[in-house]
Amino acid sequence: MINTGSSMRILLVDDVQLDRMQLAIRLKQLGHIVETAASGIEALQIYPEFEPELVLLDVSMPEMDGFEVSQSIREKFPDWIPIIFLSGHEEPHMIAKAIEAGGDDYLTKPVDKLVLNSKLVAMQRIAFMRRELKRTSAKLSELNIALQRQVNEDGLTKLFNRRFIDNSLQDLVALHGRNGSPLSLILLDVDNFKPFNDNYGHIEGDRCLIELAKMTNELFTRSGDYVGRYGGEEFVVLLSNTSEEKALEHANRIKEGLAKLSYPHEFNNSAGFVTVSQGVLSLIPTGKENIDDLYRMADRALYRAKNEGRNCFVLAEFELYPENVEESSVR
Ligand code: GH3
Ligand code: MG
Ligand code: MG
Repeated sequence: MINTGSSMRILLVDDVQLDRMQLAIRLKQLGHIVETAASGIEALQIYPEFEPELVLLDVSMPEMDGFEVSQSIREKFPDWIPIIFLSGHEEPHMIAKAIEAGGDDYLTKPVDKLVLNSKLVAMQRIAFMRRELKRTSAKLSELNIALQRQVNEDGLTKLFNRRFIDNSLQDLVALHGRNGSPLSLILLDVDNFKPFNDNYGHIEGDRCLIELAKMTNELFTRSGDYVGRYGGEEFVVLLSNTSEEKALEHANRIKEGLAKLSYPHEFNNSAGFVTVSQGVLSLIPTGKENIDDLYRMADRALYRAKNEGRNCFVLAEFELYPENVEESSVR
């Protein structure tokens, strides 16, 4: 935490013991917490533990001069704090070099008491504002992440929403087109959900959709697989790098998952629990496919599954022209 009052944590680096001690005493008299180092190497060792809010750095020191120390601090510790150089030289090129080495100000020795104090106050102000800015931007990026999640999320089920699924499908078509790998899509619709609502009520219906979504989502944890709410009581699963054979296995996993969940629905034909009908589409995209055509093909297979008595899945044959699509056998 940065001090906003008058006290700062100051690291004072000077190889001349007398200079170091005199300045340290003055800084302490001004109410600051001071740590001293007699060399650049020592300063770099003290730095991470002491966590200074300001560094006062002598320029001419043996082994490692102040410019090198400053450069090392900037490289090793990316969290910026002000560095003020102290030097007996006031030539312009020295000042330029100091700033280039990552310094923020340059004072000539002997340092005037009033000037030093004013510089400290100014640096403290900048450091405080910078910290505040960092805190604000961290908060903003947290909010942004939360917002981003909401933009992609279905309010009821917390699955991905239609917008996200559409965008993902579009991207996956392009990606699989480039790689020449199989992409699958399962469209599923709850069987006899209207009678569920009519008999148990809409709130119970919502609860059922939440449970069904949760169960389905837990079945697909692989990266590149997405479970979303297509709308109403219809859901969609996108399966990256998944062949027709595997996609059918996944459809069967959903069917079995629901049998295991056994969410009571006594008005669902003979099943007695909540079931879904599924349309399964598998293709090796060219990358140019229109996602509405893909949905249409899957939907036709789903419709067929409904006609075949529900609680089953049907594979849609992929055709370039969706109006010619023939669905294959019912499972
Ligand atoms: P089918 O087996 O042919 O799909 O029959 P169904 O009764 O499920 O089909 P239909 O499309 O007639 O009914 C779907 C119902 O789903 C009607 C609608 O009220 C209900 N529904 C859609 N979205 C929601 C929702 O968010 N919450 C609840 N509780 N019900 C919903
Ligand atoms: Mg429906
Ligand atoms: Mg339905």
